Amino acid sequence: MEVRVGVPLRDFYNGHSTEFELEKQQICEECEGSGSADGEVDTCSACGGHGVQIKKHMLAPGIFQQVQVQCGECGGQGKTIKHKCPVCAGSRVVRKVSTFQLVIEKGAPKGQRINYENDADESPDWVAGDLHVTLVEKEASLEEDNEGRVDGTFFRRKDDDLYWKEVLSLREAWMGGWTRNLTHLDGHIVQLSRQRGETIQPGQVERVASQGMPKWHEDGDSVYHSTEFGDLIVEYTVVLPDQMEKPMEKDFWALWEKWRKKNGVDLQKDSGRPEKPTMPKAKDEL
Ligand SMILES: [Zn+2]
Ligand SMILES: [Zn+2]
Repeated sequence: MEVRVGVPLRDFYNGHSTEFELEKQQICEECEGSGSADGEVDTCSACGGHGVQIKKHMLAPGIFQQVQVQCGECGGQGKTIKHKCPVCAGSRVVRKVSTFQLVIEKGAPKGQRINYENDADESPDWVAGDLHVTLVEKEASLEEDNEGRVDGTFFRRKDDDLYWKEVLSLREAWMGGWTRNLTHLDGHIVQLSRQRGETIQPGQVERVASQGMPKWHEDGDSVYHSTEFGDLIVEYTVVLPDQMEKPMEKDFWALWEKWRKKNGVDLQKDSGRPEKPTMPKAKDEL
């Protein structure tokens, strides 16, 4: 039996002990799997307890075919019950919700499978198989999982690394002199900052060492082993203002003109492209 359990990224990061509920087939407790209210089960008289009946078909005059069919009286069980169990209606099993303990280990990989021995659907006719739980990452939701408005809730995970997009204003990207405090998945702060004069290009990527996911290890954090971490990869997005008050626009324009004339770079000139669009030569009649 296969089930998928959605786990928030936070629990993959910190490790978490939780439980989940699952509806499965279980042996009826009322009748202990007999299906009978009084415990009495009779051998089916129609099939003699075999669960099957032999039927003869005449294919042509004098030619018969024997076919083995499931006994209609007992449904192939070979047994009949006079007084059916009121809980399971004689089916010997019920569908019930069970609760399972689930331990998510620190740094557990996405798609990790956890095995619960003999916890699959039960039946009086077979030994229950195993229940396999696959851990999948639950999509982050602002309301549900993020009371503390933790940035880390929206980190994206790729193996042991985490990814984050940080937005800078034009002024910050260009002039520097800013600080950002990212709250990580356990609440600790990762500080991103630039001194005045340090520029960030749009799309620039910064790798913050050891601020990614814990690398899963069977010994966890113990005397034998201390957890190592992947990296946090920050990509910067720069947002340009699309509106400006008139006086401000005038100020900036004047400033640009002043400095452009002094030591501006003319990208058009540097590109080596022609100044004017080149016109195709007059068509040759041939
Ligand atoms: Zn029952
Ligand atoms: Zn029968």
